[in-house]
Amino acid sequence: MIIAVDGPAGSGKSTIAAAVADRLAISHVDTGAMYRALALKLLRSDLPPEDEAGVASVLAETDISLGNGHVLLDGEDVEGLIRTPEVTAASSRVAEHQAVRTWMVDRQRRVVHRAPGGAVVEGRDIGTVVLPDADLKVYLTASEERRAHRRSAQRGATESEALQEVSSRDTRDMTRRYSPLRPAEDAVVIDTTDLSIDEVVESVLKAMRERLEP
Ligand code: C5P
Repeated sequence: MIIAVDGPAGSGKSTIAAAVADRLAISHVDTGAMYRALALKLLRSDLPPEDEAGVASVLAETDISLGNGHVLLDGEDVEGLIRTPEVTAASSRVAEHQAVRTWMVDRQRRVVHRAPGGAVVEGRDIGTVVLPDADLKVYLTASEERRAHRRSAQRGATESEALQEVSSRDTRDMTRRYSPLRPAEDAVVIDTTDLSIDEVVESVLKAMRERLEP
């Protein structure tokens, strides 16, 4: 059972993917954490994420893996270091390079295919590029105001800082040349603006049961 969950920042992907994975007793794979770990490595080396050649040479000597809900960067558990505003902004810049995307997609497919019983996989290009044969594709959306509100509550930023962050990151993710964020043609689109976590989880599980019916 492979469920792809895509959507913009603050649409509820992480919360919903974790809850659905828990209900189905399968793995939760957070692909954004991998882009964030690479961004952290670049920031530590003082390399601008826009420097495509520099990023490519860093990639050649980088190992990023996922396990037990944590991301490992060259063997170091960096889960607690990758949600800062600096890493967040750099992650969507580094995600624009084609070489980075190819590298990530290859690793993400391997993680998912090794997951016993399947996985709920969240990101931006899961249904469209990483796992086009997923059993179910979900695309979560929510109003920009609601997404910024959730972000500011999670990260302790003001609402206007969060609105600025969400809006500039989404524009970059949706307009980039390679694998832009968009719903897969066969995705179930759920607007989470006025829904509770439980309501969204139930909608995903209902959609999954419908897909499985003969
Ligand atoms: O999901 P999260 O906010 O952690 O992702 C951080 C950034 O990584 C996103 O803004 C996006 O640019 C990039 N990303 C991506 N493709 C994915 C997951 C994340 O481009 N599958």
